[in-house]
Amino acid sequence: MSNEPTRDQIEDLKANLAYHEHQAALIRKRLAGVPAANGVAKGDACPECGERDADRLEQLNDEDGQVRCLRCDFIYIPGG
Ligand SMILES: [Zn+2]
Repeated sequence: MSNEPTRDQIEDLKANLAYHEHQAALIRKRLAGVPAANGVAKGDACPECGERDADRLEQLNDEDGQVRCLRCDFIYIPGG
C-alpha cells in the first residue's frame, strides 16, 4: 500500500494550486495600491527617509506645523 496520490488527485491539486495562486495574485495587486492603514499623504511623507506612518511622525507644537520624523530625526513641514 502506498501514499502516492492518484493521477486524478494530482490533477485536482494542480488545479487547486493554480486557483489559489491566481487569487493570491489578485490580492497582492489590490494591496499594492492601498496605503498603510495609518499612513499620511504621499506629499506629507518624510522627505529624508520616506516615512509615511503617522505613528512615527511627531507633530511639533509650533506655528509652522513642523513634524519630526521618529525614524530618522529629520524635521520638516509636511506638504512643503
Ligand atoms: Zn525620516
